[in-house]
Amino acid sequence: MNQSLTLALSKGRIFDETLPLLEAAGITVSDDPEKSRKLILPTSDAAIRVVIVRASDVPTYVQYGAADFGVAGKDVLLEHGGEGLYQPVDLNIAKCRMSVAVPAGFDYASAVRQGARLRVATKYLKVAREHFAAKGVHVDLIKLYGSMELGPLVGLSDAIVDLVSTGSTLRANHLVEVEQIMDISSRLVVNRAALKTKREKLQPIIEAFERAARSEQ
Ligand code: ATP
Ligand code: MG
Repeated sequence: MNQSLTLALSKGRIFDETLPLLEAAGITVSDDPEKSRKLILPTSDAAIRVVIVRASDVPTYVQYGAADFGVAGKDVLLEHGGEGLYQPVDLNIAKCRMSVAVPAGFDYASAVRQGARLRVATKYLKVAREHFAAKGVHVDLIKLYGSMELGPLVGLSDAIVDLVSTGSTLRANHLVEVEQIMDISSRLVVNRAALKTKREKLQPIIEAFERAARSEQ
């Protein structure tokens, strides 16, 4: 049977770090989404195309079958909930951690000890809510869509929950990491129905990704 596949990727680090995995599966993408305005990119395999979507939209495209598979960060998957998604492989790419950060000089430990009500700005409401609930810390969560680092600098919040890799963005904004919530990496996500109906075409790619991810560790 002639099975065609759509892969959902976000541009930036996920696209860049998925390219070598695709190559390990014998698939090359010649368009550069940073330069091209195309949202649908062909690949060296006429039956496989890549769609470029927002990082946080990848699980949605795959859940509804608009894409058969995709690559999404654990941060995004936790907020989405993962319904309808099969997550066979941790690809070990786009690694970072989700952390709590506060302005240098803010005594986080004693604020928590004294049971102060903290205002926390974040894009990651679910993870933040669960993290502070588990610690018994009372928080008012403020939903932002980006540039969380700005929150404490302009008095919007006392703290932020954000992704950290090198820490240079925090440092540049005089913030310090006071708690690491979890390690983050990106996973392969596959539409559950496509896994059955397009198994023949998908399985070798999943396996190639698995092997390539293992050698990346
Ligand atoms: P958008 O730009 O659409 O708002 P975004 O900023 O989350 O989305 P990216 O910055 O490309 O998009 O991040 C995509 C994914 O890469 C995140 O979901 C996360 O899993 C991972 N990521 C984000 N920041 C870092 C980082 N500093 N280091 C490593 N991986 C990261
Ligand atoms: Mg970003």
